[in-house]
Amino acid sequence: MKLIIATRNAGKVREFKRMLEDLPVEILSATEAGVVGEAEETGGSFEENACLKAAYVARQTGEIAVADDSGICVDALGGAPGIYSARYAGDHGDDKANNDKLLGALRGVPEERRGAHFACAIACVHPDGRSFTVLGRCEGRIGFAPAGSGGFGYDPIFYRDGVSFGEMTPEEKDRVSHRGQALRAFATRFRQELEGER
Ligand code: IMP
Repeated sequence: MKLIIATRNAGKVREFKRMLEDLPVEILSATEAGVVGEAEETGGSFEENACLKAAYVARQTGEIAVADDSGICVDALGGAPGIYSARYAGDHGDDKANNDKLLGALRGVPEERRGAHFACAIACVHPDGRSFTVLGRCEGRIGFAPAGSGGFGYDPIFYRDGVSFGEMTPEEKDRVSHRGQALRAFATRFRQELEGER
């Protein structure tokens, strides 16, 4: 049995493969599975967008697909950039521009008002249309400057307990991150489904 990870984001593919390696399925990225194009993210929530991405890949490949939609929600910005995190500074996935724009938007905002959280919805969609969604959330703060070269996206400016996600080892990030939580919930639910089918 195959499980296709419906994302082209290399950072996410790494985290999915690392955390799901114990599942008794062959895990392929969308690129490895030969997926053409990608779903339009027209949903109004992380859950809706995750379902759209997974359904697109399940339909195209005839295999079970799993997708995440995730982003960073900043308290002082009323929850922005939220579902628009990837394209906050304009171009999709320009991490440096996104981080610079967010630090600029918070210029002059003191430590105690720099609260933020990462959110992650993971959707699993079967080719026959069956699906489920799980959620993860990780609280932290936006720092005053980037630190560390690990991870991807907003990791260098997102801090927990004085350390940025970019400074953590992959295992340290997985233990507390929004995607780590959602992936653990996904793996539990997926295993139950597999056992139910046996
Ligand atoms: P998506 O691929 O449409 O879900 O966009 C998610 C965007 O949110 C990414 O491009 C990153 O900018 C940001 N993001 C999501 N998860 C993380 C994370 O674990 N670390 C850093 N940035 C993240």
